[in-house]
Amino acid sequence: AFRADPAMEPEMSEEHKAALRSIKPQLLINGKFEDAASGKTFETYDPRTGEPLMTVAEAQAEDVDRAVKAARQAFDEGPWPRMSGRQRGNIMNKLATLMEKHSEELATLESLDNGKPYAVALAADVPLSVEHLRYYAGWADKIYGQTIPVEGKMTAYTLREPIGVVGQIIPWNFPLLMQAWKLGPALAPGNTVVMKVAEQTPLSALRVGELALEAGLPPGVLNIIPGDGPVAGAALASHKGINKVAFTGSTEVGRIIMRQAAENIIPVTLELGGKSACIICPDADLDEAVRGAHDALFFNHGQCCTAGSRTFVHESIYDEFVARAAKTASNRRVGDPFDRSTQQGPQVSQEQFDKILGLINKGVEEGAKLETGGKRHGDRGYFVQPTVFSNVTDDMTIAKDEIFGPVQSILKWSSVEEVIRRANDTEYGLAAGVFTKNINLANTISRALKAGTVWVNTWNQFDAGVPFGGYKTSGIGREKGEAALAHYTQTKAVYMPMAEPITWNS
Ligand code: NAD
Repeated sequence: AFRADPAMEPEMSEEHKAALRSIKPQLLINGKFEDAASGKTFETYDPRTGEPLMTVAEAQAEDVDRAVKAARQAFDEGPWPRMSGRQRGNIMNKLATLMEKHSEELATLESLDNGKPYAVALAADVPLSVEHLRYYAGWADKIYGQTIPVEGKMTAYTLREPIGVVGQIIPWNFPLLMQAWKLGPALAPGNTVVMKVAEQTPLSALRVGELALEAGLPPGVLNIIPGDGPVAGAALASHKGINKVAFTGSTEVGRIIMRQAAENIIPVTLELGGKSACIICPDADLDEAVRGAHDALFFNHGQCCTAGSRTFVHESIYDEFVARAAKTASNRRVGDPFDRSTQQGPQVSQEQFDKILGLINKGVEEGAKLETGGKRHGDRGYFVQPTVFSNVTDDMTIAKDEIFGPVQSILKWSSVEEVIRRANDTEYGLAAGVFTKNINLANTISRALKAGTVWVNTWNQFDAGVPFGGYKTSGIGREKGEAALAHYTQTKAVYMPMAEPITWNS
């Protein structure tokens, strides 16, 4: 049911149409693709043009209920939590291999639905998702408890068991990767999943759902329900039948999810917003620092929870840095994500586009100096010019609110104590970073920053094995690595009297 609007024809190649045809734009429940019981649907849009891209089934509360029941049955009676960890790992590896085989198709869907450059989706989003699933496939047979010496004639040991049915709600900025980050640690120990994908970007996740069935994931283990946040998302987060909820998105919705989890007394993990400080020290290699701070903010069109959205530059290099940062941003190639030379495609939606332009206007009104950009790029779609503000002060809206767009705000600092205090003076604490050649400064600053991840002379490094998550209102719990597995298992302690030695009388 994809639209081949003649007005869009130049943007729709045969490969694009084939990728869209590969999708079953429905709900995945109990191993089958089906329509919403109500028959409701919604449109997903092509961010290049703002035209409808595909019509997708829209889950309502009754569909969410069906999905949770399917996941419950798969957990209580199905083979997934009962098979050996090694068998689960084999199936997860098969899914990873199938995704690799369909790399181009998945990257095409990711670009069409989200607007990110195809070359980036192919070189990063798809392979990193594959790697993530493989990493957790490797864990599936290595999740075990301890034998604990205890008082008396007693033996005690622990088992690490899956939690049960997990509700997962993911955003639109990295649809495939957020799906993999959530699925890996949930599936490896034997949980079953109901996943609410973002209404802006449901397509690639549905294709992965189909590949998961092909890989041999039993019916009901992975249920995918596209739909609206306050309807399908809320129905899932508040459902009495889930045993855990995991969410990535805005801090505002994170609060709602946590309240709902409190009602049901279930564990919750949250990966929320950020306003990450990128600190440039006077001794940093200027070329590297300008490039690093640029990538820290502009990667994925600024739509990263870790975006280095407060660039703090030392006063001794400030003017030179600003001039180079503005030049780097104005040279950024904005255009069709399928053009191989494009570095920045459109923002994901009209809503995000409007929000970003509104915040840019606010920056000008509040007295920041617009060095470059500031307007829409082109005359249709959701393209925004790469934008750089200088003379930004801590009290300005652009220095406080998460913009989630290609807008770099450059602030000036003079002493190390001062920049640490200002970097930490935010409700958020997801990531931060420092550019310096001085190892003592790197150590001092990275330890003083209140953030879940600190990058030194680099940014946006994400290894599957390294924990990721927020301090303060940026979240609760960790994704990735062994740390994420802890959130998807529960510990059972078993006590057993030690038997008297048996004597055999002959
Ligand atoms: P959002 O928090 O509204 O959406 C994220 C997910 O939550 C989506 O799947 C959405 O459908 C769902 N959702 C929305 N309301 C819900 C509810 N009441 N109950 C349950 N689920 C619900 O984020 P958004 O509106 O798409 O983006 C708004 C802002 O959030 C962005 O501008 C950005 O600042 C931030 N954001 C952060 C991340 C991140 O990775 N931390 C990702 C996306 C957006």
